[in-house]
Amino acid sequence: MSDPVYNRILLKVGGEALAGPDGFGIDPARAAEVAATVKDVYDLGVQVAIVIGGGNLWRGTIGIEYGMEQSTSDHIGMIATVMNALALQDALERQGVVTRVQTAVEMRSIAEPYIRLRAIRHLEKERIVIIGGGTGNPYFTTDTAGALRAMEIGADVLIKATKVDAIYDSDPKQNPDAKRFKQLSYIDALNFRLRVMDSTAISLCMENELPIVVLNLWQENSVKRLVMGEAVGTVIGNFEQI
Ligand code: UDP
Repeated sequence: MSDPVYNRILLKVGGEALAGPDGFGIDPARAAEVAATVKDVYDLGVQVAIVIGGGNLWRGTIGIEYGMEQSTSDHIGMIATVMNALALQDALERQGVVTRVQTAVEMRSIAEPYIRLRAIRHLEKERIVIIGGGTGNPYFTTDTAGALRAMEIGADVLIKATKVDAIYDSDPKQNPDAKRFKQLSYIDALNFRLRVMDSTAISLCMENELPIVVLNLWQENSVKRLVMGEAVGTVIGNFEQI
């Protein structure tokens, strides 16, 4: 069997991946499915760090709609990501994977604080590192946390695991002729104002030339196939503009 093409990956998983059928809350059965997918990749010998979102529990925009102060609402969102991190940790540990949760906002009695070199050390010791609390700052998203942490830990790629299988020039559910991209330049990705990934995250990756792969987490073995060198989803990188 050939070797994985990546040594270290940063997987950004939206909180919705852990939700039940209605899109809310934490469904341990779904967490187990996500964990199994991650374990398949980990079993290839790839170092895996995960940044988990919180959208299944809370989003900053929910509070803002009700007149809440944005920083407060975002703080709630960051704590929601830690809840998800713990659920995913539990699911992975029950599948025999050694993990560590690190949080950008300190919660020392339940998780380690995020410390870059310690995170790298865990990865080298074959532990999956789950990073909660986003960037630790309001006004950001966990996509940006994914980009930031990927850079900090020297990941080879940022994988944005979503519900869509790739980036299209229009909604494929509404437009049967929607064009599917295998590759996209950072600038085009920014110009498209993608709903699939926020522009701060894309800009950060562009400035640091970190490739992003957008793929469907629920497509059979998608992450594993990518890691083994197959063309999966859409790669955003240093490509020619359309
Ligand atoms: N959040 C934040 N700073 C960060 C990351 C997240 O304030 O660095 C808050 C923000 O309110 C966001 C919420 O946490 O709406 C949940 O994160 P996100 O929306 O990125 O989760 P996902 O959509 O990936 O599930």
